[in-house]
Amino acid sequence: MRPGTFDTSERPFVLIWELTQACGLACDHCRADAQQRRHPDELSTAEGMTLLEQAAEFGDGQLVVLSGGDPLVRDDVADLIAHGDDLGLRMTITPSGTGSLTADRIESMADAGLKRMAVSLDGASPESHDAFRGEDGSFEETIRAAEDARAAGLPVQVNTTVCRQTVDELPAIRDLLTEIGAVMWSVFFLVPVGRGRILEPVPPERADAVMEWLHEVSETEPFGVKTTEAPQYRRVAMQRRADGDETDDGAADPGDGIKRRTGIVAGDGFAFVSHTGEVFPSGFLPESAGNVRERPVTELYRESELFRSLRDRDNLSGKCGACPYRHVCGGSRSRAFAHTGDPLASDPLCPFVPEGYDGPLPWDDTDGKTRGVSSGD
Ligand code: SF4
Repeated sequence: MRPGTFDTSERPFVLIWELTQACGLACDHCRADAQQRRHPDELSTAEGMTLLEQAAEFGDGQLVVLSGGDPLVRDDVADLIAHGDDLGLRMTITPSGTGSLTADRIESMADAGLKRMAVSLDGASPESHDAFRGEDGSFEETIRAAEDARAAGLPVQVNTTVCRQTVDELPAIRDLLTEIGAVMWSVFFLVPVGRGRILEPVPPERADAVMEWLHEVSETEPFGVKTTEAPQYRRVAMQRRADGDETDDGAADPGDGIKRRTGIVAGDGFAFVSHTGEVFPSGFLPESAGNVRERPVTELYRESELFRSLRDRDNLSGKCGACPYRHVCGGSRSRAFAHTGDPLASDPLCPFVPEGYDGPLPWDDTDGKTRGVSSGD
């Protein structure tokens, strides 16, 4: 391991805990297929406290993201944040843009030790955002919540889903980030699971063009940029450097101490604990390594066969397995799983074809594209 790098066989860069699947919204892209009511078998407050104690065993400063559903459906969130903060965890949250996200609750989470709050913007106007989220007024609530967070001294991250329905809004959403003073833009490239199956992904060449553009944004805007379920963002950065662009490839530090190394994939730098305690490589790869009620999350992450196999990039098949970028990228394991049922298959979002590779291409069976859409390095 290089000095200053992160040993992802020992600890995830990001540990997400889905506090609940309950949520008042019905967003088109919802991974969780959010429900109106809380599940009776959700991890309790005491079990959640134990989970946080397990997470602290990963090491000092472990990043924990409280997600949902809408985590604020639960009334123990501030207590969980305070406990995590006491344990030395870096606690962050991704609430839904609903009326539950009041200025009082934001302030109580900030007081409890929250380090960053993420809000979702999938459109740059009330019309486009609210249509995507399935709730009139969501856009205004989200902008208001971002302002309240800043007033409470909380750094704000904006999460955006990239798909055919949203991609043309990205430049206007970028402008909004500057207006609301966000520190980070997390750009999620659609994985067709849950309600997201009704959305259309962008084609591979467009995805690469968006990633090129995002690198330019990261160089010119005051906020950092990271991608989710698109580790080829790092391959794009390396190709830019090979073309003479010497800029950094994405370990952005937006000023709240939460750096993001690009190139992490499900099970390798990333782990997800479901509302009932199942440990998945990501929220978009619902294969369980076990349950935190039976084995600590540290053991499941470090020792389970599922996670170990995902961390060995030489296990990858198809063009990802033959790719010279597999150790810095590796492709979205979640998207490979969603398309083929095999988490080690190739990521169909990536247009890159390694030089000399003559095996099957992930899009051969889907849209009839032909080999050679991108050249090797
Ligand atoms: S082929 Fe796979 S490993 Fe190579 S850049 Fe594309 S997604 Fe990444």
